[in-house]
Amino acid sequence: MTITFLGTGTSQGIPIIGSTHPVCLSEDFKDKRLRVSVLVEWDDYAYVIDCGPDFRQQMLRAHCRKIDGIIFTHEHSDHVAGLDDVRPFYFRQGDIDIYAHERVIASLTKRFDYIFETKNKYPGVPTLSINTIENKPFQLKNLTVVPINGMHHKLQVFGFRFKDFAYLTDMKTVEDSEIEKIKNVKVLVINALRIEPHLSHFNLEEALQFIDKVNPQTAYLTHISHLLGFHEAVENTLPEGVFLAYDTLQITL
Ligand SMILES: [Zn+2]
Ligand SMILES: [Zn+2]
Repeated sequence: MTITFLGTGTSQGIPIIGSTHPVCLSEDFKDKRLRVSVLVEWDDYAYVIDCGPDFRQQMLRAHCRKIDGIIFTHEHSDHVAGLDDVRPFYFRQGDIDIYAHERVIASLTKRFDYIFETKNKYPGVPTLSINTIENKPFQLKNLTVVPINGMHHKLQVFGFRFKDFAYLTDMKTVEDSEIEKIKNVKVLVINALRIEPHLSHFNLEEALQFIDKVNPQTAYLTHISHLLGFHEAVENTLPEGVFLAYDTLQITL
């Protein structure tokens, strides 16, 4: 299985438009972060987790020619706003599978009403094949995916476990019974927004405490804001086995 980090930034991305913050002005490519998403590939299959406003650019950069589906964590704009750009995949492949909580499907239906339209659909609009997921394992081709339930302040969010890889973003609280589902995974990805606490996201300290509970072999931090600091400087402060993810990073397991 290969994981490609398509984006590792928080909702505004880094750099933020017009910002003169030193991290936004950094020349280090690891400080340039598109909106958060990963590509998960195994055998001949390719699935994307979330589809934010940078989706088109991310698919081009990753030379992604085919996707088997999109799995959504939740309905915030930085995770869904690129959905219209599935069109090239739809034209070549036909209906595109999406997987999401029924609340997220309802939100997408409102936001992208023309995509979900069934009568008199405008030509060129993509068609999606909708798969509603609950907090129980579901099948993607030959692989069972386990959802991990968490809270993003008051909003329910799904993380996902694929074999020995777990991807959780936009988490603020996760119940111990859900943490049990990912204990001792080989690779854990978890959100760490900044140093200061935040209402709906783990800060660095909370993310490190969460990693201690899960006890993975290796952990990567994502959904990073410019307020976390420079990639290189922050990474030097992290415990053994914990790294900052960066855009284009690939891991194989
Ligand atoms: Zn969110
Ligand atoms: Zn987000």
